[in-house]
Amino acid sequence: MRRRFFAFLVWAVCLLVTCTASAAAMVTDVNWGVDKFNVLRMVVDLSENARYTVDIANDRELQIKVSGGLGPKVIRRGTIKSDLAKSFSVDRDQAGVVVRVPMTKKVERPDVKSFILKKDGSTGRPPRIVVDVSTNKVKNASMKYGATSVRRPVIRPSQGPSTPVGNRVNFATTGGLKGKRITIDPGHGGSDPGAIGPKGNKEKTSSLLIANYLKSYLTSAGALVSMTRTSDKDVYGPYASAKNELQARVDVSTRNRADAFVSIHHNANNNRSIGGIATYYFPKSGYDYKLGNAIQKKMAAASKLRNLGTQQANFYVVKRSYMPAVLLEVGFLSNYREEQLISSAWFQKTIAKAVFDGLKEYFGG
Ligand SMILES: [Zn+2]
Repeated sequence: MRRRFFAFLVWAVCLLVTCTASAAAMVTDVNWGVDKFNVLRMVVDLSENARYTVDIANDRELQIKVSGGLGPKVIRRGTIKSDLAKSFSVDRDQAGVVVRVPMTKKVERPDVKSFILKKDGSTGRPPRIVVDVSTNKVKNASMKYGATSVRRPVIRPSQGPSTPVGNRVNFATTGGLKGKRITIDPGHGGSDPGAIGPKGNKEKTSSLLIANYLKSYLTSAGALVSMTRTSDKDVYGPYASAKNELQARVDVSTRNRADAFVSIHHNANNNRSIGGIATYYFPKSGYDYKLGNAIQKKMAAASKLRNLGTQQANFYVVKRSYMPAVLLEVGFLSNYREEQLISSAWFQKTIAKAVFDGLKEYFGG
């Protein structure tokens, strides 16, 4: 009995060691991006969370050191198109993996910021180390001293044309679609694929296709359409923080003085049997629900998907945009049947037409 217990103990310890070893972090990819403020962003994808340090050697070389292994598919040498660097390298060293970025300018410690992005279960994005380098002193100074501030416009619904008066911004809610300014936001894009279905269909692809169909319906009816993106691109910049990326989309609607904002997404769930269609809004005024409900009714009827209703949510883009705004979750990409639908041109057009009909009803046309 005792001997058997000992054998069990040895087996259990071996199992534990094996598990720990297999769970050791690994660098699986290295990417870079440059945003519109010329901030160079290095992104190190990991299999698991890992310890890391960021150093600047001799004011000239950025070094990201990661405790962990090096994945077999990682590119070891790469070029960078930036004012700050032209190339990077990835190598093993005693402690793990080191990413080196020789800088073309002197870089100091305050120029570098780093953080870890947690694994995102809903989009399948791995944990990542993000390192931003910026020698743009003007921008840093203004951020530090609060010289720039974002002022949210006062919400004043009106019956008339959408004309901003001073700090006030009006949005029209009646009079038909003609002349109405509508911002369409195809979810995700560029470095962010969004949800990915079991067959590999990406949320960023079908959200843009639906957006394009919707744009053509609206334009034909005389509406003035602005898009947050028209191609497979990030709106703010590659690998941006979620806040920067989403605010950039809100900014498009503010700049265009939109009367309505429509963000197009697909849902995903670990349970592949879950499906349905839903619309989300944030009640900034009574018009958010009114817009959402009009669109949701049309989408549910046209798609014949399970009607998950018009629901209140805290999503950034619907909350932070000043005009009535909705975020559509058009089916579940994680559901086999719905993935097939979502990737078909017929369904994309049907949804676009339903959203168009909802907007038409909302504006009383
Ligand atoms: Zn999404």
